[in-house]
Amino acid sequence: MTIPAADRPYFAAFLNLRGKPGLVVGGGEVAAAKTETLLRSGVRVSVIAPQLCPRLAELTVLGAVRHEAKRFQPGDLVGAEVVIAATDDPAVNEAVSAAAKSLRVPVNVADNAELSAFIMPAVVDRVPVQIAISTGGASPVLARRLRAAIESAVPYAFGRLAALAARFRPASKQRHPDAMARRRFWERVVEGPIADLVLAGQEQQALEALQRELAPGAAPESLKGTVYLVGGGPGNPELLTLRALRVLQHADVLLYDNLVSPAIVDLARREAERVYVGKKAADHALSQDQINDLLVHHARAGKRVVRLKGGDPFIFGRGGEEIETLASRRISFEVVPGVTAASGASAYAGIPLTHRDYAHACVFVTGHLQDGEPELDWDALAAPRQTIVVYMGVRALPQICRRLVAHGLAPEHPAVIVQGATGERQRVLTGTLATLAEIAAREKVKPPALVIIGEVVRLREKLAWYSPGAVEQAAAAQRD
Ligand code: SAH
Repeated sequence: MTIPAADRPYFAAFLNLRGKPGLVVGGGEVAAAKTETLLRSGVRVSVIAPQLCPRLAELTVLGAVRHEAKRFQPGDLVGAEVVIAATDDPAVNEAVSAAAKSLRVPVNVADNAELSAFIMPAVVDRVPVQIAISTGGASPVLARRLRAAIESAVPYAFGRLAALAARFRPASKQRHPDAMARRRFWERVVEGPIADLVLAGQEQQALEALQRELAPGAAPESLKGTVYLVGGGPGNPELLTLRALRVLQHADVLLYDNLVSPAIVDLARREAERVYVGKKAADHALSQDQINDLLVHHARAGKRVVRLKGGDPFIFGRGGEEIETLASRRISFEVVPGVTAASGASAYAGIPLTHRDYAHACVFVTGHLQDGEPELDWDALAAPRQTIVVYMGVRALPQICRRLVAHGLAPEHPAVIVQGATGERQRVLTGTLATLAEIAAREKVKPPALVIIGEVVRLREKLAWYSPGAVEQAAAAQRD
């Protein structure tokens, strides 16, 4: 037997201060932040300060805190179960600390671990789950970084999962009186499909599934797979949503398109089976029916199937068709939106799609050819003060520009091609309805590329900010 080393700077604990009286000394912004933290834990807060900042004044008016407009005196501490000093006067902070210590009231002095009996951790909130972080006072910046990392790693609905568990605790005790069996039961729930349902916001289904599992004599529910239809954004992995990243990291099977960048495929769980389903009009690609069958097949085998698409799955992505099949076969699914190419190109080319002076509307159309001509409502498209975004529009660009001019837009009307938007090789080619098709041919535009037509294109002159590849270009210029 060895004596545990006293190697921890603090004793970690969560205090139950609900309904208890607490004191904050100080009336500035720091005091306000501490007051709010106490209020969130149910403390009845009194604030002692000659003057209050607007935030604290408002809390007083709302009746959330009691204010005593005076200077601190040691007697003020009587009855308090916690005290925080946050004044900018070191002498006052010291007096609060000394008085609190002699009365054995736990005290925290803002930014002063020496004078504090306890420190306040950085907290990640997923109520009722709370994750507290302390660096032992070594570095608040480090604590914040850690907090940001944990914030992005723990799903926002995690607290809902805890709430569900709390609600079914009595029932689970009744159904599994044996503690070990009960633990196994909860492990299955928390790591299985029921937890997935909660995290996907399908709480009703989760509730029903748990009720079924806890019904007398119920056999553990057979594993059912889910399909996640995920928008991977326009290519830059930084533009994935947190939800997309989380879903990728739990994937058993990943089916992805040619539009999805390899960097994003790399983010999927290492063990996930990766299936390239192409989806160009090319030969090697699977047909839509084959893709639908694959989704159904893997989901029925109990897998977490991620169907990853470029941009947003519901914008020219056939996402609707794929989940229609799933719905008709009663396979559960979730849709995760993505940054669509129009948003990505607009942001990264410095071209707002709407603007109070230039465009009050924006339409997304596909330039996909049917019988050699895009089928579009040209009169509606040629309306003034409107931005047109053309997906899959490079091939038909000559016809599109010609038709728009024929229906009333000026040949000088600004238009742009954004190739590989948001990526490391983004190219932006600016022109007009009269010149853009020629520019595209000369510059050998490669897919994926998006066309934006409208007065807003001119704003790029002022608003361009993204300049990938500049380092290579500079190096090449030096060589020449
Ligand atoms: N669902 C996707 C669109 C699929 S259609 C989305 O929401 O973005 C395919 C077309 O999208 C391409 O022909 C091209 O016009 C456009 N596109 C997709 N990614 C792009 C990118 N990174 N840069 C420019 N255009 C892109």
